[in-house]
Amino acid sequence: MNTSTLSKTVLITGASSGIGEATARHLVRQGHRVVLGARRTERLQKLAEQLREEGGQVAFHALDVTRLDDMTDFVAFAETTFGPVDTIVNNAGVMPLSPLNALKVDEWDRMIDVNVRGVLHGIAAVLPGMESRGRGHVINVSSIGGHAVSPTAAVYCATKYAVRAISDGLRQETDKIRVTVVSPGVVESELADAISDTTARDAMKAFRRIALQPEAIARAIAYAIDQPDDVDVSELIVRPTSSP
Ligand code: NDP
Repeated sequence: MNTSTLSKTVLITGASSGIGEATARHLVRQGHRVVLGARRTERLQKLAEQLREEGGQVAFHALDVTRLDDMTDFVAFAETTFGPVDTIVNNAGVMPLSPLNALKVDEWDRMIDVNVRGVLHGIAAVLPGMESRGRGHVINVSSIGGHAVSPTAAVYCATKYAVRAISDGLRQETDKIRVTVVSPGVVESELADAISDTTARDAMKAFRRIALQPEAIARAIAYAIDQPDDVDVSELIVRPTSSP
């Protein structure tokens, strides 16, 4: 366990797999106090037990980011367990890609609910406390899909453009709270498993061959957290060297 960094209380949404899980491992091993949130609590429990065996400070709580009351409960639990929230990583996301003319309206709604409303709920739950303390850090996970649209990804990209817009708006409205957007390129995870459209799923297979490991994004998130309070890392784009 590395205790050289200033230890912070960090909340991570979507910590049950992929980038969120890797970020939790990395931050706990750096000595931060980490609270894991997601719907699959059995995975969170296993991860928390592993990290506690290594001496880490970690707790978990059931969280559906589409529900504001879940998010406020998550933050209240974290504060009871570890004290005021220093950082929230709004990482939870879904990506059921499909062409618009497939009219998968339920999947569009799900992406908007998780990827946009989920981030807003995370901000709503921590902002009053951070403003009253005059410090805090909101890290929102967008995507390279928040910079350029590609076929089958119109709605997903719209949600990730929204994450960047919300983050920049928050950054402009405060001079006390740090706001960081992390925009990954393709990363190995479970994200593409939920794609029900066969064309979109096949297209993703080609990308997955060059995927980064999620630890690469965890390191970027840790870099932003580790800066002093007067340094705001506004955005990090992290993609495979071999990506087009
Ligand atoms: P995973 O599918 O591996 O992880 C997604 C996480 O989000 C899971 O922990 C899942 O937990 C959680 N989640 C989904 N819905 C909800 C919900 N309603 N409430 C709470 N948690 C939820 O994918 P990644 O790790 O790749 O994705 C993490 C983030 O990175 C996402 O925002 C994604 O858009 C972004 N990203 C990923 C890229 C990639 O190539 N992998 C590229 C660019 C951005 P559970 O199901 O247990 O609730």
